[in-house]
Amino acid sequence: MSIAAQIAAINKELENTKATLVAVSKTKPNEDIWEAYEAGQRIFGENMAQEMTEKHEALPKDIKWHMIGHLQTNKVKYIAPYVSLIESVDSLKLLQEINKQAVKNKRVIDCLLQIYIADEETKFGLGFDEAIEILRSEELTQLTNLRICGLMGIATNTDNEKQIKEEYYELKTFFDGVKLSYFRKDEHFNILSMGMSADYKIAIDQGSTLVRLGSTIFGKRVIKHWKNN
Ligand SMILES: *Cc1c(COP(=O)(O)O)cnc(C)c1O
Repeated sequence: MSIAAQIAAINKELENTKATLVAVSKTKPNEDIWEAYEAGQRIFGENMAQEMTEKHEALPKDIKWHMIGHLQTNKVKYIAPYVSLIESVDSLKLLQEINKQAVKNKRVIDCLLQIYIADEETKFGLGFDEAIEILRSEELTQLTNLRICGLMGIATNTDNEKQIKEEYYELKTFFDGVKLSYFRKDEHFNILSMGMSADYKIAIDQGSTLVRLGSTIFGKRVIKHWKNN
């Protein structure tokens, strides 16, 4: 199927769900992004600051760019002027740098906290208790130019659907608890980003509002597998 046909098919699948599509275009050329764009897609996900910035400069300005990969603090300045959502925040230090760059750019930057739910050593993210510690911290109240809009998680890369379901269920439960405890009056905290090509149907059943699909739309990536990036 063409990129355009894949986008149409996925949007059809998402029609009666709460989930929105992020087209993960990392490693893919601008021609592929153009094809998705012309099919109506506006949200794209990238995992490298430099690659995302080059694409942002070359492509239409109404694209919403989501950073979905581990972000080093010294790279925040490159994406701060334009990034739409940083999905992969995994430390207070990173939040502080994002806020600093947001102030410089006179904007408010939307962020998700990435929560570690997988049964694997290689994934970035905060433990449940670490996330709570950030949400309760005095420091967070001083970060006036960012908005925590929800949580993101990556399930274990496994064929065991029961395990994936349990991991996403846990994240959804945690999300509901965090919303009640810390964001009860904040309508911006409403994004639960979970689900990739291999497991997005399970993620949607568990309450995902944002699915991040790469290979389903653009075909296999020839470069190394995402989890080794
Ligand atoms: C690469 C990547 C995706 C997309 O993976 P596919 O299996 O190609 O759909 C989703 N989320 C994150 C965080 C990624 O790095």
